[in-house]
Amino acid sequence: MTTHYDFIAIGSGPAGKRASIQAAKLGKSVLLIEKNPVVGGVSVHTGTIPSKTLRETVLFLSGWRQRGIYGRSYKVKENITAEDLTQRLQSTLSHEVEIIQHQLMRNNVEILHGHARFKDEHTLTVEDSEGTMVDYSADNFLICVGTKTRRPENIPFNGDSIIDSDEIINMRRIPKKLLVVGGGVIGMEYATIFKALDIEVTILESNDYILSFVDREIVEEFIHHLRDCNISLRFADELKSIETRDDGKVICRLKSGKSLLVDTVMFAAGRQGVTGPDDLALETVGVETDHRGRITVNENYQTNIPHIYAAGDVIGFPSLASTSLEQGRAAACHAFGTEVHSQPELFPYGIFSVPEISMVGLTEKECNEKGISYEIGIALFRETARGQIIGLREGMLKMLFSIETQKLLGVHIVGEGATELVHIGQAVIALGGTLDYFVQTVFNYPTLAEAYKVAALDAYNRMNF
Ligand SMILES: Cc1cc2nc3c(=O)[nH]c(=O)nc-3n(C[C@H](O)[C@H](O)[C@H](O)COP(=O)(O)OP(=O)(O)OC[C@H]3O[C@@H](n4cnc5c(N)ncnc54)[C@H](O)[C@@H]3O)c2cc1C
Repeated sequence: MTTHYDFIAIGSGPAGKRASIQAAKLGKSVLLIEKNPVVGGVSVHTGTIPSKTLRETVLFLSGWRQRGIYGRSYKVKENITAEDLTQRLQSTLSHEVEIIQHQLMRNNVEILHGHARFKDEHTLTVEDSEGTMVDYSADNFLICVGTKTRRPENIPFNGDSIIDSDEIINMRRIPKKLLVVGGGVIGMEYATIFKALDIEVTILESNDYILSFVDREIVEEFIHHLRDCNISLRFADELKSIETRDDGKVICRLKSGKSLLVDTVMFAAGRQGVTGPDDLALETVGVETDHRGRITVNENYQTNIPHIYAAGDVIGFPSLASTSLEQGRAAACHAFGTEVHSQPELFPYGIFSVPEISMVGLTEKECNEKGISYEIGIALFRETARGQIIGLREGMLKMLFSIETQKLLGVHIVGEGATELVHIGQAVIALGGTLDYFVQTVFNYPTLAEAYKVAALDAYNRMNF
């Protein structure tokens, strides 16, 4: 007999975890299916947590944060090894898995390890590691299977010198020269993290721009920083061929005719939904995907089959752990008729490059498209007392205010602590705050948050010339 549930989530990443707990809190019977032997998804095992743990380790061991004061050659540890970098990973990851497992158990979410595929609109067949198949049915489903790295067929990946971004956390040696293919968020994060180890880093991007969804001025400031620390940027160029020499080094020939000799090539050239025919058998139920395996959903996260929801990276941008959590919660609430006040327009975006980038609300481009007249205010971190004390050379906070209402419309930050600082702006936007709030409010001094006041005064001066 098929076991029946109110709600089944496929995938135990942030979306599946939060959705399952939400559905269980609503008193529903919930099954969470995960094909890996451990829960947590990309977020815990190959994406968010490993990359951020690696980032902290590198920034600490390299002494990066102190270099503005003690000079570029300052280091906390000489000869940093691959083991130094991975040591902290294992304990952080197992701690995360334990927390997630405990949260799920506490909330009576049943966990099943196996590969789920649709059999019909209300039934999944789950194959366990021994190949045993069992059917499970439900009233509602959430597809939150995430993404996998895109691995172009003509690239001879070998898990050592030619790797994708999932493999970089297991690297056995630190390269002297690294080529990062792809100037997206993941490429930028890893390129700048490895640059902090003083290795030669080149970024290859087929477009003539990077981070197209980020405010242009912020990207320019970021690029200025990349060049300042000698990251080599090759825009509007592509790999033509790639081969490994006998000594293990990799020769990369580019379409422009240039060649690069590096120790490691890391591909960060996009991810695609885990929704192929053998992944989920979506074709049996008619849930549609695009050319990158992403599922289209409506504002309630319903697919074209109303009781089958999708959330997280599998539905595309913004593809963040933070937003996946919230999408999962919203989907579960909608499935059981519970009202939810989710505000996707106020989701912050964080890029943990070195330096960080973060933003919330509207960009200048969006204001122009919507016909909103706005004024900007800018603060440079090095002009704040805190920036001077901690030796910041780079960093900028930019705010957009409506000229008509003086309301804060958007905040864009590049620099130390950007991903934390952005939440001040997020709260003010959500509460409908205006320029006056920043001008009249006292901030702790000396802090980087003071940049909000400086930027607000700059906007005030621009509006009242
Ligand atoms: C390098 C990197 C760095 C990142 N850094 C950040 C960051 O700093 N901040 C941030 O917010 N986000 C970050 N992200 C993004 C974040 O990891 C993802 O947004 C998040 O993990 C997506 O969650 P999800 O719920 O969609 O599922 P995922 O975490 O992708 O997990 C999906 C799960 O589904 C399982 N699954 C797939 N198919 C099946 C099936 N058929 N049956 C059963 N189980 C299945 C998989 O095994 C997997 O465990 C990063 C991503 C990467 C790759």
